[in-house]
Amino acid sequence: MSHNCIFCKIVRGEAPANKVYEDDHTLAFMDIFPVTDGHTLVITKDHFANLFEASTEALLAVAATAKRVAHALETVVKPDGLMVFQLNGAAAGQTVFHYHMHLMPRAHGEPLALHARQPGDPARLDELAAALGAHVRDKNRE
Ligand code: AMP
Ligand code: ZN
Repeated sequence: MSHNCIFCKIVRGEAPANKVYEDDHTLAFMDIFPVTDGHTLVITKDHFANLFEASTEALLAVAATAKRVAHALETVVKPDGLMVFQLNGAAAGQTVFHYHMHLMPRAHGEPLALHARQPGDPARLDELAAALGAHVRDKNRE
C-alpha cells in the first residue's frame, strides 16, 4: 500500500473510479483520459511500481482479468482490434507508478497514441463501466 498513490486510493475506495470488475487480486476500471472509447485499465490490488516489482501471482491474476475484460470489450465496443500494453519507467512513458495494464480498443486507420489530454465524458465512462461489468458478471455465471 502506498499512501499517495492514486491507484491505491482507488483500491481503498478513497478516490472515485468507473469500476468494471474486481476480484481478490485485481481491479479493472475505465481510464479517465481514454485514448479511445472503451480504454480500460487492469491493476493489481497490491502496490507494485512496475513489472519488475510485481509478484508472478499478481501478474497472472491481471492476465486473467484482462482476458475477461477483453471479451467484454469485444462484445460491448466491437472494435476492429484490441491493443494491450503496459509501460515500465518514465522513459517508457509510465505516468502512474502502480502496476497496470491498458486495454485499448483500436479502429482501422486510427493514429497510434498511448495517452490522451482530454478527460472522457463522465456519462459515457459510467455507461461503459456498467455494460462491461454486466458482461463480465454474465460470463462468470456461465
Ligand atoms: P501509464 O502512462 O501507463 O502509467 O498510464 C496511466 C494511465 O492512468 C493513463 O492512461 C491515465 O489517463 C490513467 N489515469 C490516471 N489517473 C487516473 C484515475 N484517477 N482514474 C482512471 N485513470 C487514471
Ligand atoms: Zn499504488
